[in-house]
Amino acid sequence: MDVDFHCHLDLYSNPTEVAAEADSIGCYVLSVTTTPAAWEGNQSRFARFDRIKVALGLHPELIGSRGKDLKLFLELLPCAEYVGEVGIDGSSRFKSSIERQKYAFERVLSECANLGGRIMSIHSRGAEDEVLQMLEKNCGASVPVLHWFTGTIKQAKKAIQLGCWFSLGYPMLRSARGRRLLKVLPFDRVITETDGPFVAVKGKSMVPAEVFQVRNLLAEEWNLSEDEVEMRIRENFRRLMRSKPRMVRVEGN
Ligand code: MN
Repeated sequence: MDVDFHCHLDLYSNPTEVAAEADSIGCYVLSVTTTPAAWEGNQSRFARFDRIKVALGLHPELIGSRGKDLKLFLELLPCAEYVGEVGIDGSSRFKSSIERQKYAFERVLSECANLGGRIMSIHSRGAEDEVLQMLEKNCGASVPVLHWFTGTIKQAKKAIQLGCWFSLGYPMLRSARGRRLLKVLPFDRVITETDGPFVAVKGKSMVPAEVFQVRNLLAEEWNLSEDEVEMRIRENFRRLMRSKPRMVRVEGN
C-alpha cells in the first residue's frame, strides 16, 4: 500500500487514467487543488475512487493573479475535509504578492481553526519563518503537513515542535539538503508525496502509482528494507487519518 499525500491529479493531461491506475494498486492519494474553483469539479470527478481525497486549495503562487479566490475558498471551506495547497511562497518571483499571500494564509488558518481544524498540505518555499510563525499563532486543532519542506535544520526543529508532519518527495530526497533535513525528522511524522505532474523523473511526470520510488529512497536513507518503510508509511498514514479533526457542522446553508 502506498500513499501520495500531495499530488495535483487535475493537472495531468489524463487525470482519470492516472487516478484509476493509482486506485488499481491500492494507492491513497491526496489530490490538492491550486484554486478553489477546481474543487467541486474534482470532488465529483474522483468520487468513485475511495482512496482519493480532494483538498480545497489556494496556491500562494496564484494569489497575485487570482485574489478573488480567497472569498470562494472561505465559502467552500465548511464542506471541505482536507485543505491544500495553501501557504506562502517567498521566492523572488512571488515576492510582490507576499503581503496578500500572508493575509490570505492567515485567513485560511483562522477559518480552519474556527471550523474545528483541518488536515492541511502546506507550501512554505522561501517563507518558512512566516509560515511557522503563523502556524504557531493560528493553527488551532488543524494538522499541518509541510509539503516539500526546504527550510533549515533549525526551522525543521521548530516545525516538529509545533506538531507539523512532512510530506517528502523524489527531488527532496535526491538533494543533499533534503537528506540532511531527513536526519532530524522523526520517523513517525513523515509521509510520501509525488507533487506530480510538477515533478518529473527522466523527463516524465511522476504519477501516484510511482510513489514507491520515493519510498525506496527513504529505505536507503533510513537503512531499512523497502517493506519496512512501506509498513512505516502505512502506519503513519493511518495515524495521520486518525488525527483528523472533527469538522464543525455549520447550521443553515
Ligand atoms: Mn504542489
